[in-house]
This record gives sequence, C-alpha cells and structure tokens, in this order.
Amino acid sequence: MTIQVIPVQGLPLIRKGDDIPVLVCERVALEDGDILVLASTIYSKSKGHTRPLSEIQPSEYARRIAERDREDPRFVQSVLDEAQEILVDHPFILSQLPFGHIGVRSGVDRSNIEDGFVILLPPDPMGAAAEVRAGVRAASGRDVGTIITDTCGRAFRRGQTGNAIGWSGFPAIRDYRNDTDLFGHVLLITEEAVVDEIAGFANFVMGESHQGIPAVVFRGCGRWAGHDDLYFRRSEDVIRKALCDRPG
Ligand code: GDP
Ligand code: MN
Ligand code: MN
Repeated sequence: MTIQVIPVQGLPLIRKGDDIPVLVCERVALEDGDILVLASTIYSKSKGHTRPLSEIQPSEYARRIAERDREDPRFVQSVLDEAQEILVDHPFILSQLPFGHIGVRSGVDRSNIEDGFVILLPPDPMGAAAEVRAGVRAASGRDVGTIITDTCGRAFRRGQTGNAIGWSGFPAIRDYRNDTDLFGHVLLITEEAVVDEIAGFANFVMGESHQGIPAVVFRGCGRWAGHDDLYFRRSEDVIRKALCDRPG
C-alpha cells in the first residue's frame, strides 16, 4: 500500500466568506476516498470565528490571570469566553470547550491573523467537517473524508502535535479489540486514534508559521472500522480526575 501526502499549494490568505472547498478543488484534483485535512485556523477565518481584541472587556478574573501570567487581559478574556470549564488556570489556562475538546488557552490563537485579532476554534468542528465534505462533493463530485485539526500541546511530552477536532466520512477510532496479533493473542484494549495520527502528520506538513499550507490531502489510507467516541467520558478520565479532584 502506498500512501500519498499532498500539500495544497497556493491558497490565499483566507477571509470571511471564502469558500474553502471550492478553493481547494481549484488547486488539487481530488479523488474518491481521499482525506482532506484542514487547519481549523482557516475554517474559522472563513466563517468569521475571530474577534478584535479592542471589543473585549476583561473581567476581574481575566485581569488577575493576565497580571499573574503577563498576558493581555483581553486575550485571557477571549480564552475564558470560549471555555465551558476551566481545569487549570496556572501557569496557563487549560479548559474544556463545549464540543468536548480539552486544550490549552481554549485553542484561541493570535498567530496567522492580523495584529489585534484572535482566531477561535470552530464552535461545531464535527459540523464543520461534514460541511466541508459536502462542499467538496458539490464542487468536484468527489466523495472524500475530512478532518479539521488544531495544533495542541499534550501531557507528559514536550512539543505540540496536530489533533483532530472534527472529522467526517470515517470513524475517529480504529477498534482493534477482539483482533488477534501475530501470535494469536486476542487484543483486549487497543483502540487506535486514527484521526489524530493523520492530523499529526498533516500538521507536520502544514508547519506553524509562514508556510501558507493550511490544507493537506492524504490518498490511499484505506478504510477502517471503529467508532467516534474520541473524548473520554468524565468518569473514565483518570488524568482529569487527578487534576481537578485534588483536595484543597
Ligand atoms: P492551526 O494549527 O489550525 O492553529 O493553524 P496554524 O496557524 O498553525 O497554521 C497552519 C498552516 O496554515 C501554516 O502553514 C500557516 O502558514 C497556514 N495558514 C494559516 N492561515 C492561512 C491562510 O489564511 N492562508 C494560507 N494560505 N495559509 C494559512
Ligand atoms: Mn491553533
Ligand atoms: Mn498549527
């Protein structure tokens, strides 16, 4: 099996109202079964999920965090506004968003947008992925899968990687439970987060700065069976418990 990884070259700076599926289909001849990976940044810019800092009034809490961590209080407020729940507020805000994702600074970005603006994560990334998929079908007639990514930090290891926050056209997780290994052992617990693996490599191809590659196509990944239960339920999440249920 050969897998091809195709960066989408020559996309413009994305503005509100831009039709990303059309812009991508003008630049790559997509095929049925391809996976189109988009940086959440450009999806959000195309939908206007951005905010000018000048219109944000920081609360007392935001001012306190900002002073302590030497941040712009308006930026801190934008992070708090996106959060459904704050898990940690020092030395950085770690928060859960309404759609389930837990991320540093609620995934709010100040890079790859004009000074004085922030980019928010799409409020419904699953819907976004389905919409991009339908847009590609309308623009090209091709049946592709889609992944919306964000670059995220992680526990235990230095360095950020790409994570999938929305996907459409395949299950997030390849379920290996009940499969047998090379020696006939039945696998009991292995579930592979395929969407994050693809998002991680896409993120590598995109880069983080001025590369201007917010979209990557994967061809030849095949198909897999599994489920979409990517986020732990609260009762299963031992790390979250350890972080949040500490006495005192
Ligand atoms: P995030 O990971 O979704 O937060 O997005 P990044 O800010 O890390 O950007 C990922 C990639 O997309 C990098 O190669 C950026 O240079 C590129 N990028 C970001 N915004 C735009 C845009 O409006 N147009 C183009 N062509 N590339 C962009
Ligand atoms: Mn980001
Ligand atoms: Mn990034």
